[in-house]
Amino acid sequence: MNTCSLSFPPQINLARLPTPIQPMRRLGEKLAVDLYVKRDDLTGAALSGNKIRKLEFVLADALAQNADTVITCGGAQSNHCRATAIAAAMLGLNCRLLLRTPDPSNPPPVEGNILLDRMAGADIVWITPQEYQVRDEFFEREAASLKASGRKPYMIPEGASSALGAWGYIRAVEELVNDIANLPGGANQACTIINAAGSGGTSAGLILGAKIFDLNARIVSVNVCDDREYFVNAIGNICEKAIADYGIEIDFSRDRDVEIIDGYVGRGYALSRPEELELLNEVARAEGIFFDPVYTCKAFYGMVQELKNNPRCFGERIIFIHTGGIFGLFPKAVEIESLL
Ligand SMILES: *Cc1c(COP(=O)(O)O)cnc(C)c1O
Repeated sequence: MNTCSLSFPPQINLARLPTPIQPMRRLGEKLAVDLYVKRDDLTGAALSGNKIRKLEFVLADALAQNADTVITCGGAQSNHCRATAIAAAMLGLNCRLLLRTPDPSNPPPVEGNILLDRMAGADIVWITPQEYQVRDEFFEREAASLKASGRKPYMIPEGASSALGAWGYIRAVEELVNDIANLPGGANQACTIINAAGSGGTSAGLILGAKIFDLNARIVSVNVCDDREYFVNAIGNICEKAIADYGIEIDFSRDRDVEIIDGYVGRGYALSRPEELELLNEVARAEGIFFDPVYTCKAFYGMVQELKNNPRCFGERIIFIHTGGIFGLFPKAVEIESLL
């Protein structure tokens, strides 16, 4: 589209941007593709990962509304909740997290992301998976109790995957335009961008951004939970809301533009199969890159399997987005170690 009319919502700088892009030489050779990785795990040290790009927009809105406390939610080892807790501390905000666990009276050990949540001063409210399904009620309850004590709460949805949060990855596509122009083959050579989808905001931003900036790329997401239909709807909804809310002049169709590769959820969300963890170790050894067990490992595993079935299914050039998650490795240390 003509980007003259495009205006980004207010943003605060929290992430280390632009992130580098680098070749994965040895795995690329093995898979017979030009394989690159966009290092969005390098958006920060403790802030590592994709969520902080979305939070740059969402927290700018929280500050504009004079909020003093942010409330958000996720799984027990949520990277999004950890990034929110740390960003809140950086901005002098309080943070309350609704975290999912089978038995709230016996919450998981303080390790990985939970350790960082606690150290950053977040209040944690443990809720069951059933309660998580109706989490809006819990958001309302927490917001009401904060208001009753004179605080100004601001609610952030799961993964900061809202129309506003999607701007984080629209902005990332602006970076990718430049990254791709500087790769061998330049911008004229098509590429496929592959990412892990968990709550859909990253995929939505990439899809919108690719259209806004006329990127010569296919955006393909591998789902790590639920199924293809769920994500076509979740991502389609975010894209359509962003287009409407911000008057983005692009032609979008969820059935045509949301490309999901289903079939790699494996044992379920945040549960790993040995073959996935073996790939995690292989990537660490071959490239010195650490994927996480919950998202990037599953997406990369899915990509590798698809390439095994059809070596040209993504064309010659692939950019895999490393969306972070390193702290999710540590709670899996025993499982990973058993495969070394
Ligand atoms: C949240 C997350 C994702 C998925 O991004 P969504 O925008 O929620 O789809 C991928 N990788 C990592 C490491 C994440 O923490």
